[in-house]
Amino acid sequence: MRKNFLFAAAVLFLVFGCKSKMEEQKSQANNTVETKAFGTLPDGRTNTLFTVSNKNGMTMSVMNYGGIIVSLTAPDRTGKMDDVVLGYDSLADYLKDNPYFGALIGRYGNRIAKGKFSLDGQAYTLALNNGQNTLHGGAKGFDKVFWNIEPVSSPEGAALKLTYTSADGEEGYPGKLDVAVTYTLTDDNQLKIDYRATTDKKTVVNLTQHTYFNLNGATSPIVDHELMIKADRFLPVDSTLIPTGEFLPVSNTPFDFQTPARIGSRIDESHEQLKHGIGYDHCWVLNKVNGELSLAAVLYDSSSGRQVEVMTTEPGIQFYSGNFLNGSNIGKSGVAYRWRYGLCLETQHFPDSPNRPEFPSTVLNPGEVYESQTIYKFSIR
Ligand code: BGC
Repeated sequence: MRKNFLFAAAVLFLVFGCKSKMEEQKSQANNTVETKAFGTLPDGRTNTLFTVSNKNGMTMSVMNYGGIIVSLTAPDRTGKMDDVVLGYDSLADYLKDNPYFGALIGRYGNRIAKGKFSLDGQAYTLALNNGQNTLHGGAKGFDKVFWNIEPVSSPEGAALKLTYTSADGEEGYPGKLDVAVTYTLTDDNQLKIDYRATTDKKTVVNLTQHTYFNLNGATSPIVDHELMIKADRFLPVDSTLIPTGEFLPVSNTPFDFQTPARIGSRIDESHEQLKHGIGYDHCWVLNKVNGELSLAAVLYDSSSGRQVEVMTTEPGIQFYSGNFLNGSNIGKSGVAYRWRYGLCLETQHFPDSPNRPEFPSTVLNPGEVYESQTIYKFSIR
């Protein structure tokens, strides 16, 4: 009797033990990383495209140039996969004219007024690449540099670790900055982005990601998407999109997304702030406890059923409604990205913080570690 029991237990162990082993292999196989050459950079380096997938069939492709997310596929409510981010089919197109599609942004995401700031009485001057201001790191920001990419194993899914060392003085910023950014595509359909940086001299850092989303696969403008932003205040800007320093309540303005609203419902109202941005191009002050990972925004497209929840440790989110797209960027599969064909939800510290002591600090000292996390969680509704 006891012998029979032991035999049965052994058989059960073998059957279920093997099954779980097989499932593990299957899940590992689904998390494989594929690589292919994706053009050559002007300095002769090969630009490689790394593609990872999760167990639900979502895929993400990332290249060395700019740490750019070239494509990201997600299921609609019928299970059909579509690419939900804007980008190009070739490196040449990215080199020619890229309004930051999919790019990693640094050393300082968003604007610094007149390209000037001081640290401990020492003045620094940056390249002016956006009228009289510096935008997204300067003339050659992190969106235009070569990132080393290494697939790394993560219990949560397939991950790519991107690293770059920005030399002391690069683009006018002080300090050698060592940056590591990890993109993880988890098996529960999250794109998790972890940023880390250290410096050898006092500097300023504000890293973000500039993916343009269009949850219906770029078949129509994003004005029909619905958005919720968990913020009761936003930062008004001057005509050059530099914050005035005020924190304005969103209530009774077109900037109130505290309950979900169709993006297009108020975008063309004659509000002075909408004129400055030709639509939304502002930083919302998230309702949160400093540094905590919490919900910042929810984007939903009723035509496909796709939804993205954005969670971040950052104090702000720049919602840019693709107002400067005008159809001249011919994107993937020959689609012309017309006005408002994509939107960005850039989690970050506030614009021009180096010149605004009242804003949360973006200063990084030697010995400190800059750490930031943002999650874009895909689901259907
Ligand atoms: C800025 C826009 C800018 C765009 C460039 C956004 O982050 O807020 O003003 O035009 O990046 O693609």
